[in-house]
Amino acid sequence: MSQIDGLPPLREVIATHELSAKKALGQNFLLDLNLTAKIARSAGDLSGSDILEIGPGPGGLTRGLLAEGARKVLAIEKDARCLPALAEIAAAYPGRLEVIEGDALKVDPLQYLTPPIKIAANLPYNVGTELLVRWLTPKVWPPFWTSLTLMFQREVAERIVAKPGSKAYGRLAILAQWRTEARIVIDLPPQAFTPPPKVSSAVVHLTALPAPRYPADADTLSRVVAAAFNQRRKMLRAALKGVAPNIEDHLAAVGIPPTERAEQVSLEGFCALARSLQSAK
Ligand code: SAM
Repeated sequence: MSQIDGLPPLREVIATHELSAKKALGQNFLLDLNLTAKIARSAGDLSGSDILEIGPGPGGLTRGLLAEGARKVLAIEKDARCLPALAEIAAAYPGRLEVIEGDALKVDPLQYLTPPIKIAANLPYNVGTELLVRWLTPKVWPPFWTSLTLMFQREVAERIVAKPGSKAYGRLAILAQWRTEARIVIDLPPQAFTPPPKVSSAVVHLTALPAPRYPADADTLSRVVAAAFNQRRKMLRAALKGVAPNIEDHLAAVGIPPTERAEQVSLEGFCALARSLQSAK
């Protein structure tokens, strides 16, 4: 019996249900329930929120979220082998855990959730960045969620919180910091996982701001930033040539030297550039 909920320890769950980790599904499991409870706490007060969890696997983080008082957890898992283990957790927390078997990139979870909604996940690395970008780039803001508490490879976490002038600064930093307050809240060594991945990991907590820090059209900003950082060593007048024929005029209009490189431009600068391009449409 484990300390936090009276269910069997995760090692036993994995043995009973024969959940050997599959690399293709990005399976690196967290088996320490004290650690999963700590990650759940880093998501803030869960008692008044529904939680969307992607990739519950054998349920370590799911149990942490429920033990820490989540009103309801909706968990989307692609690997059908995990469903019996998750059903045992659902039975221990009547009415508070709903599991959907499916691909998180294809399932629309909204019909199963009641706001306020938080998202928490030890994400499969292969789909983590794609899901994050989707959650950060809806046409309208605020989004359907109030916060994201997500595990990433340490290097990806650094890209989310990076500041201008650093190597890690790029599209992820701009998209995350434009509309959220993003912080690294927990560092984890490879040994925290079974099996251990090759690299360290970190939990990032992102709180949705009520409104973006600076006005800009989401699609235009995404397009400009993608183009600018796709050729990050080039001067902006060259990197952004394909975005608008008179890009030098737009750069001049917002006070960005055309010889500058993307790495030097602040979030505010990119938003001003996106507005200039949008107003010329
Ligand atoms: N949350 C568990 C934990 O912390 O121990 C498992 C984390 S493991 C890194 C990622 C989980 O995501 C695996 O259970 C895997 O089967 C699942 N997964 C992979 N791709 C998925 C997808 N597209 N949609 C939903 N789940 C997926």
